[in-house]
Parts: sequence; C-alpha cells; structure tokens
Amino acid sequence: MRLSIRHWIVIWYTIWMVLLIVLVFAGIFSGSSYLVERRTKASVIDAVNDAINEIEYDNGWLDFDDVDFRRSGAYIALYDNQGFRIAGNVPEEVPYSGFSDGILRTLSSRGSSWYVYDSLLSFNETDSVWVRGIIGSYDMRAVVSSMQGVLMIVLPLLVIMAASGGYLIVKRSFRPIDRMIRTAEEISSGNDLSKRIGCQKGSSELYKAAASFDRMMDRIETSFEKEKQFTSDASHELRTPISVIIAASSYGLSHTDDKDAKETFGVISHQAERMSSLVSELLYIARADKGTIKLEKEDIDLSELMDMVAETMEERTSEKGIRIHTVSDDSVIVYADRDMMMRVLINLVSNAITYGRENGNIWISISRGADNAIITVRDDGIGISEEHINRIWDRFYQVDDSRSAGNGSGLGLSIVKEIATLHSGSVSVESEKGNGSTFRVNIPLRP
Ligand code: ADP
Repeated sequence: MRLSIRHWIVIWYTIWMVLLIVLVFAGIFSGSSYLVERRTKASVIDAVNDAINEIEYDNGWLDFDDVDFRRSGAYIALYDNQGFRIAGNVPEEVPYSGFSDGILRTLSSRGSSWYVYDSLLSFNETDSVWVRGIIGSYDMRAVVSSMQGVLMIVLPLLVIMAASGGYLIVKRSFRPIDRMIRTAEEISSGNDLSKRIGCQKGSSELYKAAASFDRMMDRIETSFEKEKQFTSDASHELRTPISVIIAASSYGLSHTDDKDAKETFGVISHQAERMSSLVSELLYIARADKGTIKLEKEDIDLSELMDMVAETMEERTSEKGIRIHTVSDDSVIVYADRDMMMRVLINLVSNAITYGRENGNIWISISRGADNAIITVRDDGIGISEEHINRIWDRFYQVDDSRSAGNGSGLGLSIVKEIATLHSGSVSVESEKGNGSTFRVNIPLRP
C-alpha cells in the first residue's frame, strides 16, 4: 500500500513527538536523580560535621549531649578508636564496616544502599572518637518504575491525541488539493471545462493555489469557447461559397467541350465536395462541443437503415468491385436520432470501402445483444496496425498512408464515437494490419 503525503506527515511528526517525549522524560529523570544524589551525600557530610562541632572534650570526659543523632534523615553514631559504638543508633540492616577518615562510601545490603561518611576526631595522642554518619541512598528504581508506569499510560494517549488531531488538521489543510485533484479529473474525464474547485476564501497557500487554478480554468474555458464559436461561425460562413463553387463547377462541366477545361472543372468540383463534407463535419463537431446538438429521437429499425445505406453506397462499391453482404436479426429497434444513426453507418461503410481491397467484401450486420443493438461493419482490406488502433477515434487522426491518400479528414470515426456516446452507447474495433478490420457500435435497445 502506498501512503499519501498526509499520512507521511502525521507518521513523521508522531515519531518525532514520541522521541521528544521519551528524551524529555529521560532528561528529567537523570537530572533529578543526579541532584537528589548530590543533596543526599551533602546532607550526611553536613550532619557529621555539625555533630563534630557539638562534641566537647574535657580532661578525658566526652560531652555529646548537644549532638543531634537524627539530622535531615541521617543517622549519627559515635565510636571509640576500638570500633565500639559509644552513642547514637544505626539502622539494623546497615552492615558494620571499618572506618576510613573523610571518605564517603556506599554500602549495600539486601537490595538497599547507604552512604556512610566517617570522620576521626582526635583530642590528644591517645583519645579520639570516630563520628559516623549514615543515610539511605535515594531508591531510583522505584522512581524509574513509576515513571515507566506513567509513560505507558500517557504516551499512547498523547500519540493517539496528537496523531488524530494532526491528521484532522492536515486533512483540512489538504482539502483544496483534494478538490483540485477531483476537479482536474472531472475536467479531463468529462471534457467539462466549466468545473471549478470553488474553495472559500482563505489565506493559506493552498487556497491561493486553488483560486489561481480556478482563474486559469476561467481563461482556458473562455478561449475554448471562443475557439468553438470561431469553428462554428467559420464553418457556417464557408457553406455558402462552397455550394456556389460546386454549382458553378458543375455548370462549367456541363457547358464546355474543352477536354482540359472539363478536367479542371472536375477537379474543382471534387475538391469542393470534399471541402463541403469537411465543413459539415467541422460544424457538427463544433455543435457537439457546444452542447447545442439536439437529438431528435424516434423508434428506428436498424435493419432498414442498413439496407438503405448499402444501396446508397452501391456506386462506390461497384467502382472498386467490392461486394456488400448484409445480415440482420429481426426488427432491432433503437430509440435514436435517425440522421445520426445513418451517419454512423455511412461513415463506417465509407471507410470500409476506402480502406477495403479491390474486389473485396464488406459484411454489415445488425444484431441484438442483451440490452444493446450491435452494428458491425467488417472489411477484408488493409487493416490497422497496433500502434495506431487506439488513436483512430481521435479527431483529425489519420494513419500516415491514409493521410497521403489525401481524401479523408480524420473526423469520421470521432463523429461515430461522439454519436454513440450521445446515445449512451459505445464503440470498439478489432483489426490487424493486412487482415481487414471489424468496427462495432453498441446502441441501447428501445426499452
Ligand atoms: P478518415 O477521414 O481519414 O477516413 P476516420 O476518422 O474515418 O478519418 O478514420 C481515421 C483513420 O482510421 C483513417 O485515416 C484510417 O487510417 C483508419 N481507418 C478507419 N477505418 C478503417 C478501415 N475500415 N480499415 C483500415 N483503416 C481504417
């Protein structure tokens, strides 16, 4: 599974947050344990020094009445130079150990540790007394385990809160991007340039980017609209002069006996016919783009239409020696626009003739699927190679050999596809170079 940026952001800062919390806890723990240890050690040394100040000696008599034997948690005890305790108490669990003057030592017994500090107080060459201070070292293991307990509860809670809160914030901040993606997808899949992201005004960079995207789409849409309008207007305006050229060249053709002039008029007439059909195709496409095409739907028997088209095409097929074979299921009725269905059949059969082989065959069939009528036009002509087959439905796309033949416009199949889509149908093709092609158009049956 690939994670999105927002998941990465949340995971990234959650990991850093956990690390930070653990580091802060560890820092607090080690800092405080260091301070506690220093204070404990200092207090046992202070207690011993204070006790020394309170001891008085007078001619072999020792006076320790003023000594505080329990001071700031420390135990004070006095020993003679043989090691016998003269005064004070020590906890039972502290093991006895020899004396060493002015050194702080640690004694451990049964899981507890103690700091022991001894100081030798000498009065003369023979009389002296050891002052021993003992204090329990602070038990850090208890602190560690209680801190661990707190961490175990607090950390998961913090992680859940931070991750879910952070996720919500990141998700909110990414909303304009989500909308941008959705809008861009809608625009590219549906050809609808009027879609906008439409985020409310905000100051974040993403909102500004969304607003810029919308402004850009406004400009693109306007220029597209202008272009469509231009194509539509230009095609419309070209129709009249082209009709005049066609009429004039046929007049010229029928009123001259000069061979060269006849040939010239023939060329003019042929090219003007081509221009005329190109212009009407362009006009159709411009209208389809503008969404101004109105379907005039009615019940149509496709088999009848097929017979009509086959008949219309007879002149062109016989020129090339092509035989048309038609086959149809009984009354396949669709609820569709008659002119458009006719156009589909004419475009497909016309292509089958153009790209069919001399003295070849064309098979047209109308059949009934589960919910669809299926129009199939098959030929045994030049076929289409794999590299071109997915692009032949694009506007103005022509396979190179066909372009050089110079007769088509590359719009025929895109119109077939457009009409199928307008009728909630679909198109498909199977072909192999040199082995003919089979075009299929599915149109929903009359419910
Ligand atoms: P055109 O005006 O060039 O025929 P179309 O949109 O009708 O434009 O077809 C696009 C291209 O698809 C053609 O140029 C041609 O190369 C190829 N094509 C269409 N029909 C056939 C067919 N029956 N056999 C082989 N190639 C075809």
